[in-house]
Amino acid sequence: MKTENIWKKYKDKKPIFDFCDGYKEFMSLCKTERECTDEIIKQAESAGFCNLEKVIEEGTRLKPGDKVYANNMGKALALFVIGQEPIEKGMRILGAHIDSPRLDLKQNPLYEEGEQALLDTHYYGGVKKYQWVTLPMALHGVAVKKDGTTVKVVLGEDPKDPVVGITDLLIHLSAKQLEKNAKEVIEGEKLNVLVGSIPLQDEETEPVKAQILCILKEKYQIEEEDFLSAELEVVPAGPARDFGLDRSMVMAYGHDDRVCAYPSYKAIEATGQVKYTSVCLLVDKEEIGSVGATGMESKFFENTVAEVMHASGAYNELLLRRALKNSQMLSSDVSAAFDPNYPEVMEKNNAAYLGHGLTFNKYTGSRGKSGSNDANPEYIAKLRRIMEENNVSFQTAELGKVDVGGGGTIAYILARYDMEVIDSGVAVLNMHAPWEIASKADIYEAFLGYQAFLKSE
Ligand code: MN
Ligand code: MN
Repeated sequence: MKTENIWKKYKDKKPIFDFCDGYKEFMSLCKTERECTDEIIKQAESAGFCNLEKVIEEGTRLKPGDKVYANNMGKALALFVIGQEPIEKGMRILGAHIDSPRLDLKQNPLYEEGEQALLDTHYYGGVKKYQWVTLPMALHGVAVKKDGTTVKVVLGEDPKDPVVGITDLLIHLSAKQLEKNAKEVIEGEKLNVLVGSIPLQDEETEPVKAQILCILKEKYQIEEEDFLSAELEVVPAGPARDFGLDRSMVMAYGHDDRVCAYPSYKAIEATGQVKYTSVCLLVDKEEIGSVGATGMESKFFENTVAEVMHASGAYNELLLRRALKNSQMLSSDVSAAFDPNYPEVMEKNNAAYLGHGLTFNKYTGSRGKSGSNDANPEYIAKLRRIMEENNVSFQTAELGKVDVGGGGTIAYILARYDMEVIDSGVAVLNMHAPWEIASKADIYEAFLGYQAFLKSE
């Protein structure tokens, strides 16, 4: 089965470029799960979504066509458009994650060594550590002060801002380093971010660190102790950009998995009256195993569905079980795109290609499909019909050749409710590198595919 390059079907390419301009703006602004949550809530509110907490508080009865969202600790969220059928008949769920690989500051990060001030980090998610050095980096996140006030930090994005970053050994002195295995060329404990070198006047002990503390205090009202209750993430600095002479691709930090999260949100934003309740679920912590209160393993989604059913006037435990069981889901995450530099890791008949549309992965996992959801063919057949009827182009793929490696997603967690789930998404190059690459045509096609799915019966 050969799939077509979908650029050819678009005589007018403007809708693709326009949609991706919005995506680039989103990606330039949103580099943490908190920033994604804030921005999507902002967009959703102006598109008519109401906070579910307010609906509960005011005792409003939800009716078909109503739009609500639930915010999970500012780091994950679920959006709903109430369908004409009772929710127990099932939902159409789009799921994606909004956390991305990065370097988190440790709780006691700031120190001085060799008259330089540095921030100690712990990497988050799977990274090739050698890719994260000698790049302009930005600092994004929050520090929560003892009195409960939250200070937001974004440093390194405004062209007038300074940037920070991690140094690497000069080639002249690297003979020994270059003999090391690539895994150890840059060690985790060497991912220390250089942030300053001016000593504070008249300060005897650690004057460079003292100077940085003065700047933090002045600019952000942060004391050294406030690092204890902070989530500060070191991420690549700078905006998402067009990639390629033909501008056919986007290079950005965090395509994994905002390249699925953004079109998923845009699809539910565009949803009007639907038969089955539409859901867009955007979760945190996927890159570290979906654990924690804001990850997919948490009861947040189940609890929220219970609340939405209650607000719709039809909740009991059995109806909730039925609602989950009768649902269908596209669990969207990035796929590995075929890379002409590394054809040896792909089996070419079952690889995802840039510009070939939305990707469906029947299975992910590793070794003997271990950890995979492995979607049902009955469900895949239905999705083939939906995509064909809506003129959406798709391809099927696996995550690399058998026994080369593999990976997991959130699909298996939703599948626990006995609902139909398949892995889908957008193919990317450079997955988990500081700057990843995706095809604009695929991003747009994902948006169309998600819309078609939400409307499906
Ligand atoms: Mn992912
Ligand atoms: Mn990932």
